[in-house]
Amino acid sequence: MASQALYRKWRSQTFSELVGQEHVVQTLQNAIQTGRVGHAYLFTGPRGVGKTTMARLLAKAVNCEAPAEQRPCDQCEMCRSVAEGRAVDVIEMDAASHTSVEDAREIIERVQFRPTSARTKVYVIDETHMLSTAAFNALLKTLEEPPAHALFILATTEFHKVPATIISRCQRFVFTRHTINNISNHLEHIAQEEGITLQEGVAERIARAATGAMRDAISILDQLIAGSDGTITLVQVQGLLGATDTSKVGALVSALTAADVQAALQIVNEVADDGADLRQFARDLVERLRALMLLTASGDSSTLDVPDETLHEMRYQAAQTNVGQLVTWLKLFSNLDYQLKNSPYGQLPLELAVVEALLAPAAVVAAPAARAVAPAQPAAVTPKRLAPTAPAARPAPPALIREDARPIEREPEGPPAPPATSAVEELLPPTKQPDVVSAEAQEAPSAAAAVPEEVIEVVYDAAFLLEDVEACWVQVVEDIRAADKLIYAQLDGVVPINVEDRTVVLLAKKGEWQKKRLEVDKTRRLIERYLSRELGSECFFRVTINEEEEMPDIKKQIQHIRKDELVRSALNIFDATIIAIDKP
Ligand SMILES: [Zn+2]
Repeated sequence: MASQALYRKWRSQTFSELVGQEHVVQTLQNAIQTGRVGHAYLFTGPRGVGKTTMARLLAKAVNCEAPAEQRPCDQCEMCRSVAEGRAVDVIEMDAASHTSVEDAREIIERVQFRPTSARTKVYVIDETHMLSTAAFNALLKTLEEPPAHALFILATTEFHKVPATIISRCQRFVFTRHTINNISNHLEHIAQEEGITLQEGVAERIARAATGAMRDAISILDQLIAGSDGTITLVQVQGLLGATDTSKVGALVSALTAADVQAALQIVNEVADDGADLRQFARDLVERLRALMLLTASGDSSTLDVPDETLHEMRYQAAQTNVGQLVTWLKLFSNLDYQLKNSPYGQLPLELAVVEALLAPAAVVAAPAARAVAPAQPAAVTPKRLAPTAPAARPAPPALIREDARPIEREPEGPPAPPATSAVEELLPPTKQPDVVSAEAQEAPSAAAAVPEEVIEVVYDAAFLLEDVEACWVQVVEDIRAADKLIYAQLDGVVPINVEDRTVVLLAKKGEWQKKRLEVDKTRRLIERYLSRELGSECFFRVTINEEEEMPDIKKQIQHIRKDELVRSALNIFDATIIAIDKP
């Protein structure tokens, strides 16, 4: 069965059958009943939302032989002939395929002839914006003085390409995308009539994939019916669409509201293993969390565009959480899109967000402000902020922050070095102290990778540098994730902040309990093994929960605050150098 077949079969034949676009239906029905139908209408909106269907309904209605309030009746000879495409006075043309000048112009000019059998000669011009200039001129001339027997219905997906002179002569109707609920209900209805059973979640999944276009949704259903034995399963839908599973989104939200880290990570892994589009999954997740937030905040589900079975699940989830929590999660997960697009580490950003969502409750809301303020005023970084019960700074691995940061285009502290040696000079500042290397070198692992080998040897004479650790830290975390999920979860928000000979100092932002867990023998061995492997050199670590203690001297503080994006931007803009830090 061709994919169009089902759509044709289920094209609405009366206004009451039509799904969605209620605002258009109401206005048009009113015009029909009061006998005030205009001569030109412009239907604009995305493809597949019912513009052509509405145009045919209007064409039927203005010619229908039934009493005005029943039009279109879909029973009389006129209605039937329009529905069957044999009404000679209803002229449908697709401007996209009538681009030859004479063709479209001639057809339009023929409007002057009276209709053969109908009351009104109706022109339905699809993709109107594609008309040739000559055809537009003919149309414009006609619209300036339309014959009494003529009705023009222009449809377009690209409103901005329609000349203003045409627009000003039309009544315009904006067609909106269908809601998920509208589409999935309609799919359920069609399936029932066709004797097909849709497994729970199937209709919704198709509706989401159709992004508001009913025609696409029915076309997908049609393809599924063609290959089914009477029941359509979620697996079949995913096989066809190759996209994410909404039940996984629901399951992840359930795991989040139940504070079950392991279950949540498990779901993320399943989604990734299924080869699903993680960005789409994250977007679906944000959409679901947003709906849950609205539900939790108001208790009112009338504005939510979710199917009933989903609503049932959401009510249960809403009872387990609160608005503040959901706001935190929304901020956290809505930031993932860019990271997932650019991360070389697959699902890692999503996993980190999941762990962060559950291990740092209520911490994330304060994060953007903390990040923006703290570096400019280092003294504001009080031990209290780092204490286990107080909100911690938003933990994000350094490499992910780097990806967000725009590249530094010039060295703010002096004239640009010659291209051949600039990377070298960044790595080897005048004092040759490894701990005062410029922020640029730390922020750009690729620059370090581009340094000639002999220079790396010089640097490595002093064991290794903080930027080496920072550059490989995400990989270390990724290795540990593959090796041991529980230890991985304990690394949430842990970042390297200093190097003392062969000992890496790790900051545990979650406080004392996190420090203790990291110091458990098994955990320590695993972290040191992967860290040593990535650094290519044996190393150890110690954990601190107080960043300030690790930054005793002014040089380290300068080094620290230069990592902040705001500070770096300021340095760039003003071509400035940090010489001192005021403590309030
Ligand atoms: Zn009729």
